[in-house]
Amino acid sequence: MAEAFNLRKYGIDTETIYRNSSVPVLYELGLRLEKGTAISDVGALMTYSGEKTGRSPKDKRIVRHPDSENNIDWGDINIGLDEHTYMVNHERALDYLNTREHLFVVDAFAGWDPDYRIKTRIICTRAYHALFMQNMLIMPSKEELANFGEPDYVVMNAGGFPANRYTSEMTSKTSIDVNLERKEIVILGTQYAGEMKKGLFGVMNYLMPLEGVMPMHCSANVGEKGDVSILFGLSGTGKTTLSADPKRKLIGDDEHCWTDKGTFNIEGGCYAKAIDLSAENEPDIFNAIRFGTVLENVVYDKDTRQVDYSDVSITQNTRASYPIEFIDNIQIPCIAGHPENIIFLTCDAFGVLPPVSKLTPEQASYHFISGYTAKVAGTEMGVTEPQATFSACFGAAFMMWHPNRYAELLAEKIKTHKATAWLVNTGWNGSGSRMKLKHTRAMIDAIHNHDFDHAEYVTDEEFGFQIPTSCPNVPEEVLIPKNTWEDKEKYTQVKNKLVTLFNDNFEQFKANVNPEIVAAGPKVAETA
Ligand code: ATP
Ligand code: MN
Repeated sequence: MAEAFNLRKYGIDTETIYRNSSVPVLYELGLRLEKGTAISDVGALMTYSGEKTGRSPKDKRIVRHPDSENNIDWGDINIGLDEHTYMVNHERALDYLNTREHLFVVDAFAGWDPDYRIKTRIICTRAYHALFMQNMLIMPSKEELANFGEPDYVVMNAGGFPANRYTSEMTSKTSIDVNLERKEIVILGTQYAGEMKKGLFGVMNYLMPLEGVMPMHCSANVGEKGDVSILFGLSGTGKTTLSADPKRKLIGDDEHCWTDKGTFNIEGGCYAKAIDLSAENEPDIFNAIRFGTVLENVVYDKDTRQVDYSDVSITQNTRASYPIEFIDNIQIPCIAGHPENIIFLTCDAFGVLPPVSKLTPEQASYHFISGYTAKVAGTEMGVTEPQATFSACFGAAFMMWHPNRYAELLAEKIKTHKATAWLVNTGWNGSGSRMKLKHTRAMIDAIHNHDFDHAEYVTDEEFGFQIPTSCPNVPEEVLIPKNTWEDKEKYTQVKNKLVTLFNDNFEQFKANVNPEIVAAGPKVAETA
């Protein structure tokens, strides 16, 4: 008889291992052993991630090694770790894993294209984490699992146990350590499941450019004519929400690659924000919440087990993770052609960026490198100054190379495949309210229906991009930001402020990008 699956080669002796277990088995174990776990009225598994309810970017470390050292863009995002300290954390993770009575293993693929996919192995202590990753990765068939062999990358999630703050280079009890040479990720001190998913995304962001492939923090879908759209954007700008579109097949909601053949999704599932989720506004996502879906950190009625999506008392970042098959209209396998439209999503809390505008290729490069979005700092618009974020490539937290490496790949692909770039602001306008979701959807429909091909445009005075002056199913007055402001002087003032923020941020890139991209940036208006 063949020996039962074990983890001894990693120094883990735990005997009971649940490998790629069925959803009911994971439910039963989670409900029995993980505090607070419950079933929602529609059958989702409601779980709690503990103290950390979001990622811990300051605690991410990358091991310095001669083989990769010169490729990494070291700094505040990619913080180095020496190999010895890595081994200390690695050992600590193993010691913790060895104290468990059982462990979970998820063996699955990252990347739908067989030419580029990597085999991953997740070793974790919670049924919640295993189900989450089974939803998020691409699960092998029975046959593929039998022939899985050795994984390319291993994630050791010992997040239930802290890092030792007195270990050199540790600045907190949380540490997410990526070792590109050992092909491992070790997690200590956070049970937020998103760390595993985004940790592997970071690895893909390192590996793919080595093969001339562009990894992207974007969602993607494809129309009936095979026309692919990709939507870049930082957290909360609408990648997941806007890519779920009944008229188009969903390719994926967060992580994709662009190869010489076209696009492929890295993941097998979606990870949607659940805050204020409603059947009316987001029917596809709402209906994806069912048996098999993991609901994180939501609040529910004790009797009915009905979720109150408006309750953010645990966190604003409540989430639902489900396999992509839970969405009705999908592209399986999640592979498609070259993008025709590239949409940069931004959530502009200053209220001065147009809800939709068309970019030149140089403006596309400029905005891709800038990666702008803004949050409202206080609760009320206008009371406190919005907080601007610039995150290169619309996902600097996950990029390993210098932003130029990705920017050059994107520019080259846009040029070769003649894609059109758009900027879509899903944020605020001058009237102090957020852009209506149905209006944003109508603008994206218009892009897909070619309604803007022969539309009239005005040029944005400061940013230079082309703003269409009409759009089906959208009132004209919301298209031009200035018209939504009563106080035009204030508008100019706020806009100039934003232009200055863009320019200040771009200083760091100026020397290394071609002058045409620098010239495609915004300019402060001369007069009010
Ligand atoms: P992440 O990278 O964290 O997954 P994301 O880009 O996928 O973020 P979404 O999950 O789509 O972001 O979040 C967008 C949120 O904003 C949703 O909660 C959505 O309901 C809300 N929203 C409100 N108005 C709009 C709008 N006009 N367009 C898009 N989203 C909107
Ligand atoms: Mn998302």
